[in-house]
Formats: sequence, C-alpha cells, structure tokens
Amino acid sequence: MTQSSRPVASVIAPEPVREGAGVNLRRSIGTRGLDHLDPFLLLDHFESADAADYAAGFPFHPHRGIETVTVVRQGQIRHADSLGHSGTIGAGDLQWMTAGSGILHEEMPQVRPEGIGGLQLWLNLPASEKMSRPKYRDLQAGQLVETVTDEGARLRVIAGDAAGGRITGPVEGLAVAPKFIDVVLPPGASFREAVPRGHTAFAYADDGEVRFGDTRTPVQAPALVIFGDGDFVEAAAGPIGGRFLLASARPLHEPIARYGPFVMNTRAEIERTLQELRTGRFMASRRPAAARRWRSARTSAARASTSAARRPRPRSRRRASPTMRAAPASSDCGSRRSRWTSRPCCGPRERSRSSPATASIAGSKGRTIHACSAATRA
Ligand code: FE
Repeated sequence: MTQSSRPVASVIAPEPVREGAGVNLRRSIGTRGLDHLDPFLLLDHFESADAADYAAGFPFHPHRGIETVTVVRQGQIRHADSLGHSGTIGAGDLQWMTAGSGILHEEMPQVRPEGIGGLQLWLNLPASEKMSRPKYRDLQAGQLVETVTDEGARLRVIAGDAAGGRITGPVEGLAVAPKFIDVVLPPGASFREAVPRGHTAFAYADDGEVRFGDTRTPVQAPALVIFGDGDFVEAAAGPIGGRFLLASARPLHEPIARYGPFVMNTRAEIERTLQELRTGRFMASRRPAAARRWRSARTSAARASTSAARRPRPRSRRRASPTMRAAPASSDCGSRRSRWTSRPCCGPRERSRSSPATASIAGSKGRTIHACSAATRA
C-alpha cells in the first residue's frame, strides 16, 4: 500500500498568557480555540531574557491525572516535589513527571543572564492510570543523544523511536505510545519520520522557519502545526533553518473533566480530588509517610518565612500547610489567588468571566468540563 505524507491540517499562532505566580508565556494547546488535542492537554512555550517575565515562577501546586513534560532550551529551572526529588534542570535537559494519583511540586525558573526558554506539554493519562503511583524522571542532556541523519536533520528522541526503530528514546512503554522528537533543521536539511496512522500528531516550531508536509507549507516560529492523518511527517528547513518538537500519541477518546492542574474523567472525580485537598488526604492513600514528611517540611519553611517577615497570618492559615489547601469548587476565579499556591487561579481571560469554575463544573453533561480552564497549569 502506498504510504502517504501527513498534510498540514492547521497552523495556529500561540496566545500570550500570564501564568503561575506571574510568568508570561505563549500557549497553543489548552486555549479557548483549542481546548485539547487528544491526548495532549496543554502546550506552553516560555522564552524571555527579561526576569520580570519569569522570575515569579510556579510555586508549590498539585497535579493529578496527567503527565507533564518540560523541555528546557535555555536557562535553568529549580524544582522540588512531594516524592522527595529536588534539583535544577538546564539547557538540553528534560523533566517527565507522571502525576498519577497526586503530586505537589514547584517549578522556579532561575534568573540568569541568558533568561529562560523551553516548552511544557501535558499528556493525558487513560482512566485506568489516573490514580497510578506518581513517577518522576529527570533526563539530562547527555541521556538524549543527538543523531544527525543523512538528510542533515539533528534529532534527539525523547519518547518512542525514530528512523525505523534505529534510534530509541529513554521514555517507553506508555499507554498512549507517545513519540516525541526534538528536531533541528539547519539550512538545506530535511526530515521524514513515520507516525502511526490514527495517532494525533503535531509539530511545535519554536525557532526559525520550517516547511511542513508534501506541500512544503512555510511556518515561521513560534507556531503549532497540526497534521491530518497519514503514515509519515515530512519537513524541510526554511532559508535560515529551524527547530521543532514533533509529538504524536494514540488518542484516548475518553471524557475529560478539568479543573486547573487536575484532569480526570468525571465531575465526581474532580470533586473528590478537591475534597481530599481540603481535608489533607490528597496523596495520603499512596505515600502517606512521604506526604507527611513533605507537608511538615513545607509548613516549617512557611512559618519561618512568615515569622521573619513579622506578618500576622489570618487564623485559618495557621491550621494547615499552605500547599495542601484547595480552591473550593464553588469559588470564582475573580482576582483571588489559588489556595493551593500563592498565584491567581486563572489567567487574565478567565478573570474577565463571572464564576467560571462554578459554571463549568455545573455544566458537566458535555465531554469536557472547564474550571479555571487550562489557564492554571504546571
Ligand atoms: Fe506543575
């Protein structure tokens, strides 16, 4: 049977979003125009040399039901999580976190002369794995070997395999069979890679110019390119060359119930998650000892910090770790800050609406439930 090139179905310009505790970034999946691209839930591109755009970072916050993949292009991100991992990832490194049943973590870009740059992608977990044990992988640049093809493309395979199975990435065995390949095309180079029929596939160009498909559709970075079905993706460098992340995965075709950093299948599962956060049982069923230790450490740190600042705290804030409190499902986003972190629970566009969390949770008859939309990420 003749193999067919996947056509360019659409090219989407990312939207500016202010996220976390005040990080300016560009979002192309998880917007009003493109809620998700099954099984991809969110794609953020952060890139700035101005510390005011990123220094506030993403203080401690929870996740459940998803995997987050962070690719660092430049600068450094300090991280810590409730599994006991902490450290710094830098240019060329990658972090693959499976939130599963629950994880709390922080992601703090470090202020450096080169600024910060990178991508974060959210991958949905199938219903059968949403309450699985959380996992964390730090993949240093040295573990992602770069291969130069005969056509001049420089590839780093992150997940799945490439070049007919000759190159295999360090991440394998996931339910949605993701294929993630970091591709650099110097001027004159071209690229062709098989992608299973029926799998969702996109490329995110974050540098230069790349021409995609057999029509060689020119795409200037930054842009999201969504492919139609077919057997392979092809691309060629524009005059100045370019870089993109190719991602594909098997769609789940499952209902999505979304509330900020939690993505489950039903409204009831979201409400159970929020209830667990309110009562301090989030993560308790999986790693009780680790959760207690981590919570205790964060509470001590928060008290020390507050004491040093000599600020009296509201009575309600003395009872529990600030990281273990959930925003109530009925809260409006307004200008309030998320109760699980110190950041606003919604981006600017959500704040312009009235009570989006209440409205969307209540409207759960559709397949997708929005609450704070995807605007509260990572
Ligand atoms: Fe996060």
